[in-house]
Amino acid sequence: MIKILANDGIDVNGKNILEKAGFVVETNKIAQENLASELQKFDAILVRSATKVRKDIIDACPNLKLIGRGGVGMDNIDVAYAKNKGIAVINTPASSSASVAELVFAHIFTGTRFLQITNRVMPLQGNSEFANLKKVASNGIELNGKTMGIYGFGRIGQEVAKIGIGLGMKILAFDPYVSTVDLSLDLPALGQNSRLKVSIQTVSEESVITHSDFITFHVPFNEGDKAIINAAKMEKMKKGVGLINCSRGGVIDEKDLLFALESNRVAFAGLDVFEKEPPVNMEILKHDRVSLSPHIGGSTVEAQNRIGIELAEKVIEHFKK
Ligand code: NAD
Repeated sequence: MIKILANDGIDVNGKNILEKAGFVVETNKIAQENLASELQKFDAILVRSATKVRKDIIDACPNLKLIGRGGVGMDNIDVAYAKNKGIAVINTPASSSASVAELVFAHIFTGTRFLQITNRVMPLQGNSEFANLKKVASNGIELNGKTMGIYGFGRIGQEVAKIGIGLGMKILAFDPYVSTVDLSLDLPALGQNSRLKVSIQTVSEESVITHSDFITFHVPFNEGDKAIINAAKMEKMKKGVGLINCSRGGVIDEKDLLFALESNRVAFAGLDVFEKEPPVNMEILKHDRVSLSPHIGGSTVEAQNRIGIELAEKVIEHFKK
């Protein structure tokens, strides 16, 4: 009997699929410090981003045959080391793309209508300062007709483009490894199976940087990499641009971002990820033109559901081979 530890939980549908296929699934979380000894009783471990499966754990568990990551980033797993030892490592890269793309627009709508300020101030002063707050938040802008810059045109970047197109935005996408992408937009309002095909050609980095009203980043990034967006690049952007980072902390230099916010080069930023997590830069956290979320881009009910099912199917495929 194959025993699986889902240490950061697994959606109930995924668990059911595994159990129906004859696997035993344990969802009681084992603390990181006890994992090396406790994991020896299992054939596979499934994690999200919380549990770390490093060399020490891999060495302590010679029976381990598979490590599954629900989501995209594998920063919490020593992937090459595990594969070298013959352990399969799987993930579910596409399951959360639509959720991340929607969060991008949650941050853009927040920034363009000053909701990050009004949501903070109205509980305290909404009754006494209503007229002043109305003044502060009355110069919002619409997205329709604006240009959406997308930096990194992979899975999430393409989902962002689809939403942008639906909102009547122009799309400028930069990706050194992608030239043309054929998008398929589902339009259920026009009837079942109604789809619109849109072909998008990527443009130069310069075009995205200089012509976009909003720029969102969807690139891979590893700890220790140099920031992709720094003061020099922000200086070339349109005055009043909105920047969104729902990829990885560090893609935008936080110090340079603060400077660009102060000089009004950047009108607002939306951040789901931070150079350090938990974040330590209080100036960023308290800034009244920064909309914040605690790294939840890929965490929605629907994404968890798809992740659970995709993981379960991949685990079954591996062990039934
Ligand atoms: P993906 O691999 O599908 O797409 C990334 C794209 O970036 C690729 O097309 C690649 O060619 C391109 N690229 C690489 N280097 C580039 C560069 N220097 N400039 C421009 N483009 C470049 O990845 P994805 O699934 O779209 O994920 C994108 C990012 O989002 C990753 O960093 C991932 O870790 C992160 N992510 C965050 C969350 C969250 O909760 N906030 C959830 C899922 C993914």
